[in-house]
Formats: sequence, structure tokens, C-alpha cells
Amino acid sequence: MEPRILELRREIDRINRELLKLLSERARIASEIGRIQTERGLGHYDPAREEEMLAYLTAENPGPFPDGTVKRLFKEIFKATLALEEQEDKQKFLFSRETRPEDTRVRVREAVFGAGPLLIAGPCAIESEEQMQTTAEFLAARGVKVLRGGAYKPRTSPYAFQGLGVEGLKIGRAAADRHGMAFVTEVMDTRDVGVVSEYADILQVGARNMQNFALLREVGASGKPVLLKRGLSATVEEWFYAAEYVLSQGNDQVILVERGIRTYEKWTRNTLDLSGAVLAKQLTHLPVVVDVTHAAGRIDLLAPLARAALAAGVDAVHVEVHPNPKVAMSDNNQQMDFAQFDAFLDAVQDLLEPAPERRG
Ligand code: PEP
Ligand code: MN
Repeated sequence: MEPRILELRREIDRINRELLKLLSERARIASEIGRIQTERGLGHYDPAREEEMLAYLTAENPGPFPDGTVKRLFKEIFKATLALEEQEDKQKFLFSRETRPEDTRVRVREAVFGAGPLLIAGPCAIESEEQMQTTAEFLAARGVKVLRGGAYKPRTSPYAFQGLGVEGLKIGRAAADRHGMAFVTEVMDTRDVGVVSEYADILQVGARNMQNFALLREVGASGKPVLLKRGLSATVEEWFYAAEYVLSQGNDQVILVERGIRTYEKWTRNTLDLSGAVLAKQLTHLPVVVDVTHAAGRIDLLAPLARAALAAGVDAVHVEVHPNPKVAMSDNNQQMDFAQFDAFLDAVQDLLEPAPERRG
């Protein structure tokens, strides 16, 4: 090969790379414009703007390409950019109301999340058959349709009670069955998703595991409804992205739970972020639950917070109830006893529509 041609071709290669870099940079900026246009509900195609660009490009054309060629080349770039913007519009998130405008309902036995307010109640941890049977009987008699109880407990200390495991799952399932309730319990490990799915109606992903992406994928693939708690320090956006992990596995049965976030405040265990819960209702189509127990960490705030949450339009309130909280093996201070639950129910009853009927 003629050495001069080789040398010039190397020059062409360099320019190609420069052009590619510039085109990519241009595409990134254009897609940022596209994102803003989408947010504002504006279209991407702007013929006047294209005319304006072609006008100054031809006016400033240094040659040797004739103006018509410059126009054709740039029109091709415009076309590619528009296609990119439209493609990015299509990649809307599965959690978003823009993707799915109507509310998602999650039906679990007698309970339908997203069709009128519900209560989820039960002890923090499953401790014995008697404890679960007594609690389930008491709650079912008051119209509570969803029984909770942890068989695998995420404890701050590795030496604290870790839950009864499979034994606890069996106890929880039996108590729920005997009283016609749905059973929700936490799964902490991808290796336990199979066994927890056998016994539970709803898999809970706890606050501490909200960004355990392997676990999110696994519960997503299980096809079971998932109760996804917001992480202790997670932003609303991170919480939604966590839901996206589950949804992206083809599982649309996701229930979001705001359970308080960590702030500098010490007089409550966490700070209930009601705006986060309302944002979740507005920006997603998923049912939203407010867990007042873990948010407040104190019984005197449960009813007022539950009233606020229900008035704000959430789909369910989550509380912990134990036959004898003083001897509970976890979360002693925040679990209500039966008398306290009755007082709580009286205080929020008017906001629970249809009101749970008392049978016992
Ligand atoms: C629980 O529900 O008992 C629990 C541990 O909750 P969180 O993950 O919200 O702390
Ligand atoms: Mn708890």
C-alpha cells in the first residue's frame, strides 16, 4: 500500500473516532433534553428547531460538501436522536403510574390490598403455638384478615433471639388457617425463599434487606405477593427501584411499606415519613402500607399515626400485637397487648371502610 494513503487513512481513523465521540456526546445531551420534555409532557420532534440548525449549518458550511449533502447528513443524525429519545420513553419503570395508570390490587385469600383499607397485625416474632393461636383468634374476631409474625428475625445482635425458623412457619400457617387469615412473614435469605413460600401467603422483605438485590430477584421469581419495607435510610427513589427488582421478575404483586426512616430524632424509634407514603401512592400503582409500630416504636403514637396514614389514603396499616408484650422475645416496648389493640381499633375504626366487624 502506498505509504501516503496509509498515513492519510490513519488520519481518517482518528477523525472517525473524534466524530464518534462528538456524536455520542451530542446524543447524551439530546437524551437529557428528551428526559425533561417527557417529564413536562412535551413531544420530542421539533421541526422549527431542526430548520434552525440546518440553516446555520449550511450558512457556516466550509465545504467541500455541498449544502444538500450537509443537510442530509445532519437529518440522519436528527432522526437517530429522535429514535433514541423515543426508545428511552419506552423504558419507563414498571412501578410507575405512567406505565400503569390504574391501581394494582393484591388479592391474598380474603384480603384485597388496594380495595379499601386493611389491617395487618400480629406479633413481632412467632414464639409458640399458643401465642400465635391466641393472637390469631383475637385478631380474626375483630375482622383482621392478615396475620403477621416473624419466623426469621433480623436482629441487631447475633446473640438475640433469631426466630423459630421452619417451626415458626408451621405455627404461623396453622394459626392463620384456623382463623381464615392470610399469613405474612419475613424472608431474609435467598436460600429460604422456597420454604417460606410453602407456608406464607406473602413474603416480607424487611427494611434491612431492601437493597439485597439477590433476595429481591428471588422473591420476585417466587411469584408470591411481596411486602417490601422501605430501608432505614433509603430514599423514596431507592425504595421504588427495589420494587422494580421484584417487578422486573414478572411479579406484579408488590406491596410497599413505609415503616419509618432513621433521623436525628430520639423520642421516636424512627420518623414516619408520611410524605414518602403519599408519594408512593401518587407515583406508583402499587398498594401502600404504613407500619406505625416500627415507625413510632411507642404505643401512644400508634392510633394518631394510623389515623393520619388512613386519612392520607394508604391501603393498610401494620401493627404489632402480642398477648403479653412484656415477655415478648423481641420489640417488647412497641407491641400492643389485646386491650391496647382494642383501644387502637376504637380510635381508628371510623377510617377503616368497611369497618371490620367484631365477632368476639
Ligand atoms: C418486622 O416487621 O418485624 C421488622 C423487623 O420490620 P422492619 O424490617 O421494618 O424493621
Ligand atoms: Mn418487630
